[in-house]
Amino acid sequence: MKVIGVTRDDDGPQLLERERPSPDPGEALVRTLRVGVDGTDHEVLNGSHGGFPDGADHMVLGHEAVGVVEEPNGTGLEAGQVVAPTVRRKPNGETNEYFRRGEPDMAPDGEYTERGIVGDHGFMAEYFTSPADFLVPVPEAVADYGFLVEPLSITEKANEHAYATREPFDWRPESACVLGNGSLGLLTLWMLEQEYDRTYCVGRRDRPDPTVDIIDEIGSTYVDSRETPVDELPETYEAMDYVYEATGFAPHAFQTVKALDQNGVGVLLGIPEPWEFEVDGGSLHNEIVLHNKCLIGTVNSHVSHFEDAVETLQDLPEWLLDDLVTTVTDPEHVEAAFTDGDDQIKAVVEFDSL
Ligand code: NDP
Repeated sequence: MKVIGVTRDDDGPQLLERERPSPDPGEALVRTLRVGVDGTDHEVLNGSHGGFPDGADHMVLGHEAVGVVEEPNGTGLEAGQVVAPTVRRKPNGETNEYFRRGEPDMAPDGEYTERGIVGDHGFMAEYFTSPADFLVPVPEAVADYGFLVEPLSITEKANEHAYATREPFDWRPESACVLGNGSLGLLTLWMLEQEYDRTYCVGRRDRPDPTVDIIDEIGSTYVDSRETPVDELPETYEAMDYVYEATGFAPHAFQTVKALDQNGVGVLLGIPEPWEFEVDGGSLHNEIVLHNKCLIGTVNSHVSHFEDAVETLQDLPEWLLDDLVTTVTDPEHVEAAFTDGDDQIKAVVEFDSL
């Protein structure tokens, strides 16, 4: 079968031929429909994030997938059922307390692998196997966009964890700001626009630009970080009740504290490289304490977040799905899915259709 992988000798995606996998007991065989590409895949390719499976000379890419159950293999799933796979798996197949609790997304390094990211092959293949417990049903009507369940689930978890910090008091948020106009930022912006009176999205692009067009269409305010740095949002626009960082630009983590209103919460998603720079730590510490602010980090997601994401996916408007997906390519022309540029938002590799 065809797979898209990265080898130790090359940092570009390669079309490789590998044997079709056979499901172990408890696993189903899934025929892949589509696999999305995101910032993390680029980081895996350039070696700044993740790592190969032990002893392997290549790693199959891809962690945002949707497929159809080909062989249920006695798992209780049905042949033909559309599913989206979660990403974290037991290291060497051995369970631990995080998997037993159903919280692998909270496991520390070494207590998990991630399909297509760290220590395990991904889903960019004609077929993949997975424990049935980690395959979340997706309605057929949204199968074409089922690869968005994974990125949406990242935000479902981020929001759940961020809001949980505000539960002890009567928090009445009105304004939210997303930092970053990549695919994760734009999907999140649409989600937040459904909840908040006023939303903002920070980028660093000139108009005309397809991502800024989406921000306008969502009904949000575009903020150019070259004109208004994140810590000046309160003076130029307003202090934010919620900030969602999806740039990976490390100064944003600290500028978020200034951007927040009294009692606000900022959630950090970006995965920056090491970078030393100066910050006024005293003022940040003071600001967080005296104004009851909260800054949290979050990574990955699990089954309940995938289930929430399936609900959200069904609500996404058709125009947004059309505008977000800028490339659909077959495995033979996979480079198109990894070509970056201002007109590329979400690229997808299509292996098959329903
Ligand atoms: P992208 O690279 O597609 O998007 C990042 C966006 O941030 C780009 O649009 C970029 O603009 C913008 N940006 C970067 N620096 C600045 C700046 N200084 N001012 C304004 N805008 C800026 O990534 P994704 O949308 O896929 O993901 C976003 C981040 O979240 C990444 O760091 C990714 O690694 C991380 N991530 C984290 C997950 C988690 O579980 N924590 C899961 C998935 C992703 P431009 O294109 O113009 O350069």
